[in-house]
Amino acid sequence: MRSKIVAGNWKMNKTYQESKTLVKELKKAIKEIKLDNTRVIIAPTFTNLQKASKKTKDTVIEVAAQNMCAMESGAYTGEISASMIKSIHVDLVILGHSERRAYFGETDESLAKKVDTALKNNLEIIFCFGEVLEERKNGNHFKVVEEQIKKALFHLTSEDWKHIILAYEPVWAIGTGETASPEQAQEMHAFIRELVAERYISDVVEKVSILYGGSVKPANAKEIFSKEDVDGGLIGGAALNAEDFMALVKAI
Ligand code: PEP
Repeated sequence: MRSKIVAGNWKMNKTYQESKTLVKELKKAIKEIKLDNTRVIIAPTFTNLQKASKKTKDTVIEVAAQNMCAMESGAYTGEISASMIKSIHVDLVILGHSERRAYFGETDESLAKKVDTALKNNLEIIFCFGEVLEERKNGNHFKVVEEQIKKALFHLTSEDWKHIILAYEPVWAIGTGETASPEQAQEMHAFIRELVAERYISDVVEKVSILYGGSVKPANAKEIFSKEDVDGGLIGGAALNAEDFMALVKAI
């Protein structure tokens, strides 16, 4: 059975103090919600990760890192390794976010290496991919998504896939207020599931959660989440305040 997931990507937002406050608010609010086969994940920035991990230890809230170095250790100034993330009891990492691809030069090839390092260190991965507007307009969105997934993930074994969560994020819908229609999301998610089904055993396909990301808000979440192949959302803006984020958890 596929888990439902609502994951909040805080990006480069929230100071240490602000992050502490938001975690506190989320912990309080989540007690009021009955979760059924649903995972709730937050991804604060590195400086706030350990505190968030500690403070959510005995709660249902899980914590993820937003990035990770492909290398295990050594002379890589400014980088954070998988084992460092694990050492503060964080078991998840977001990889391949479109902002990392666009501003920090991450490619399908470099992401394949990060994926391998994360899995070697027993980190579960939220793997992001999605087309830019031009590609959608040209009708190339299926081809682009297929390549991104194949290049970064299709070398993995079925066993590895137990630790993969997919996040389809059309770049034109991220932080723009423009959302893919529920039908567009469903169409792409069904395509992705079929793609995985052609390469892997049915167990992988049955268990892999596919999240949608791109301007999901309390006002549109229910409709998107109700689609058969949409197992939840990766949320940016609406994850930055407890009320909105909890509305999304309720929506699922
Ligand atoms: C994201 O950055 O993953 C995202 C989906 O952002 P937003 O919800 O703000 O569009």
